[in-house]
Amino acid sequence: MFITDSQLLSYQRCPRKVFLDIYGDFKQEGFPSDFLQKLIRDSSKFRSSIVSNYNYQIPDYPNGNLIAGAKATEQLMAVGVDFIYQGVLMVEQSTIKLLPQNSIHSNNFLSINFVSYPDLLIKQPGYSRFGDWIYIPMNIKLSKRPKLEYQIVTAFHAQILASIQENWPEIAWLILEKERLYKVNLEQRIQQMQKSISELIFMLQNSLEPEVFISRQKCNLCTWYSSCHAVAEAQKHLSLLPGITSNRYAVLKRLNLTTLESLSKTNPNDLKSYPEFANGVGIQVVQQAQSVQENKVILRNEKFTGKLENQALPITNYKLTKLVNAPVELYFDIEAQPKIKLDYLHGVLVVDKRYNTKKFYVHLAENPLDEKMIWYQFLDLVWKYPIAPIYHFCEYEIQTVKKLAKLYKTPTYQWKPLLKRFVDVHQVVTQTITLPIESYALKNIARWLGFEWRNPQANGAQSVCWYEEWLETGDRSLLDAIVIYNEDDCYATYYIKEWLSKFLEERLGNK
Ligand code: SF4
Repeated sequence: MFITDSQLLSYQRCPRKVFLDIYGDFKQEGFPSDFLQKLIRDSSKFRSSIVSNYNYQIPDYPNGNLIAGAKATEQLMAVGVDFIYQGVLMVEQSTIKLLPQNSIHSNNFLSINFVSYPDLLIKQPGYSRFGDWIYIPMNIKLSKRPKLEYQIVTAFHAQILASIQENWPEIAWLILEKERLYKVNLEQRIQQMQKSISELIFMLQNSLEPEVFISRQKCNLCTWYSSCHAVAEAQKHLSLLPGITSNRYAVLKRLNLTTLESLSKTNPNDLKSYPEFANGVGIQVVQQAQSVQENKVILRNEKFTGKLENQALPITNYKLTKLVNAPVELYFDIEAQPKIKLDYLHGVLVVDKRYNTKKFYVHLAENPLDEKMIWYQFLDLVWKYPIAPIYHFCEYEIQTVKKLAKLYKTPTYQWKPLLKRFVDVHQVVTQTITLPIESYALKNIARWLGFEWRNPQANGAQSVCWYEEWLETGDRSLLDAIVIYNEDDCYATYYIKEWLSKFLEERLGNK
């Protein structure tokens, strides 16, 4: 059995993924999305650009033959090559001394080999079994932060390296974005790494399938998403409720509140002593469970008014919701490439209720240098309707207007009054109602209302990939796909606003 550094990395993020990669039915696994493939390509380019600064050697061995790879790497270490790129480190588990508290409990007797692929091995003065030199590991990550999982994997490289060269590397490095060097605290991370390794081996050797837990952040790009989501749906798993984080779920488990039914019947007062459910979170979570359980829309706080301290006041007046029904309304959505800080599309749907017309305007930077031009085109358009509210979904649009105004030194009178016209539909939804859905993202809400995107695969990440591909290939169909997606986002925002406005008007009744 092989335990690799990439398994250890996956294990830090989601133990279930490591389990499924080995024991799962591969027919249930999806393909990596275009965005995931782009991230992999970007990381690889970054790694190549960093190592090009070093005069390295690569071990020569037949593709896929790990044993030969490990041997070739050891040969380079033995002759004292200064930098080794793409080396393979492999040792038997029995040669590694784990800390006593991390001893491996095994039910069977499969021998275990640890395999790791540090990006660079760097020769330093010191002592090892090879002579008066020693190697230290360096990992290269296209990341702003030295995430804990990266540090733990680097500690894994250091541990295996120590076993091979018979001496501990004193340092281990991470290179991050903008070539920032980060020194990994080995003393601290080795302990955590060994604990994770012990748990990982125990899970694999005993075929213990970890419970599913859907989290948008970690699951979105995972190739097992559809399969895990189907399992979670069948179980009505609480992780499908907005607001249930892994920490909150751990508390609910301790309280034996693991079903939708039990959570929906809970008195929020019973949760309020837990910090995870403070500041009204308990109420929200219980209402969310009720909404899904009963498949109905609930006005926020309508059930619990007056029972708890520090809760938000219920909205009792439709006018307070900022959803104005104006003669002309604008619906605004931006497409951006955050990595290079580029906002390449401003889409605006103009809904003129006086003439019952809807027209979509697109301002698109076919070239990144056109960003300034489309910013001013956008301003020209919105000032044609000087008192129309500008509806958008989430905060990005408002933040971007401030950012672009600063970047292009736009006179205050041209942009500042716009801020008062912005209405964040997402904020109004989340402040006023609880819906029987899995997430308050634009797609989830609009789809629940029956709205469909013309291209069901389109999303923000895909749009980033299309734009990048357009810049590389000049294929105009990619731009067309982005425009259609953005137009649908604007229409979805309109659809939600219209529905919500009607719903609140009926329920609150005092417009
Ligand atoms: S979809 Fe989520 S829960 Fe399932 S394996 Fe992937 S990361 Fe883990």
